[in-house]
Amino acid sequence: MPHTSRKASALLASAVTVCLVAAAAPAEPLGVGDRLFPHLGNPGYDVASYDLSFTYAGSNSEPLQAVTTIDAWTTTTLDRVNLDFAHGKVHSVELDGEPAAFTSAGDDLVVTPEDPLMRGSWMRITVRHTSDPRPAEDREGGWVRTADGLAMANQADAAHLVFPGNDHPSDKAMFTIRVTAPNGYTAVANGVPTDVDRTRAATTWTYRIQHPMATELAQVSIGRSTILRRTGPHALPVRDVVPTAHREKLEPWLKKTPDQISWMESKVGRYPFETYGVLMADVDTGFELETQTLSLFEKGLFTDRSYPAWYVEAIMVHELAHQWFGNSVSPRTWSDLWLNEGHATWYEALYAEEKADRPLQARMKAAYSVSDRWRAAGGPPAAPKAPDPGRKISIFRPNVYDGAALVLYALRQEIGRPAFERLERTWVVRHRDGNASTADFVALASTIAGRDLTGFLHPWLYGEKTPPMPGHPDWKPVAQARPAVAPAATAAPPE
Ligand SMILES: [Zn+2]
Repeated sequence: MPHTSRKASALLASAVTVCLVAAAAPAEPLGVGDRLFPHLGNPGYDVASYDLSFTYAGSNSEPLQAVTTIDAWTTTTLDRVNLDFAHGKVHSVELDGEPAAFTSAGDDLVVTPEDPLMRGSWMRITVRHTSDPRPAEDREGGWVRTADGLAMANQADAAHLVFPGNDHPSDKAMFTIRVTAPNGYTAVANGVPTDVDRTRAATTWTYRIQHPMATELAQVSIGRSTILRRTGPHALPVRDVVPTAHREKLEPWLKKTPDQISWMESKVGRYPFETYGVLMADVDTGFELETQTLSLFEKGLFTDRSYPAWYVEAIMVHELAHQWFGNSVSPRTWSDLWLNEGHATWYEALYAEEKADRPLQARMKAAYSVSDRWRAAGGPPAAPKAPDPGRKISIFRPNVYDGAALVLYALRQEIGRPAFERLERTWVVRHRDGNASTADFVALASTIAGRDLTGFLHPWLYGEKTPPMPGHPDWKPVAQARPAVAPAATAAPPE
């Protein structure tokens, strides 16, 4: 029909004009509007899969050569594609097999295709780049240099110091990770091995995950390591990665994992992924990290005698609990971090109560006494203050650990143990492999309890002051400054 075609060509002409204008404007960093990290993630596309390929030369002081291939679906018409990438040299970018222009703007790598990408189409971006294990200036996270190789710690916003991508937990995707390292090294990544290719000088390991993952949870371990295999409940493959030199000393801890998984399953239901295990890194990080299917621990937590055994075990359970809370069910935004840390702290404390006679109620009472001060320092649990400049890891404050576990305790007091336990089990099934927000949690809690809990939970989640604790009218905030009482707040804080 002539009318339609005339209209279409007019539209096309105006689209081209807009495009030329946009292309002339300077590239700028974009974000998905996260309140705490405004430039994290990028609008206009949804990543389906990453294929990451790293070549390690055997030195922690020179960049790895890397190729990152991203398959994504456009959700709007794009005349530029922003990726997050801030610490490495980009050699080339291809878009759907054709060389594409690129530049950097802030923390973004901005790719300009020859022609705009139409909304609702697949695009494949291939970036050849370096991935630098040396720390970025004034930045934390990314590669962690260990005594015998490398590991990764990307939470919250550091995956894009390692590889280009859409570095926000709201865009989960599938990952295939390949690592080539000189013979004598062992490489392990999230998921399960699919291929090992040995040549005379080097070996390439390929791993693939079977469930979507947020970029912040990627893990690659390269080291003089031994892979230890054991079996968890219902034949779940358990795989630990340990520095070969320290294998025997660590074994008493490693063998606890299968029972810890069984314990977590008795609380919240089936383990959500294809494998689990502990990565013991020979490095002092000051934190542990729940990287998907393979949690990162610093060896010293297990070999430094100053930590009591019950505490170390509870921290192991903390990272394990994150596989459900944070990894399988990922936060919608970083303000929902309390859903990760509050739950991980909850099961950490519950495990200590059941296995080591450390009453949860005592820990919660202690948390209550300082909760107002935690809120003053870090904001309420579900509306945390922005990270300190240059220390983005500083969103991991007590308000989202014991301060948020305290919210769960208040909820259990309010709705009773059976409803609370049903809520926890339902939550991880309903949002499995997805993202969920604080509002989703309040809504599900209300559904399970059979009444609207908004009026109860909002002051707990968003209030400047800690509300009265149901069932404990005698619990009071303690005004004067005192050392924090919760053990997690005083020793090697988990993440
Ligand atoms: Zn944690």
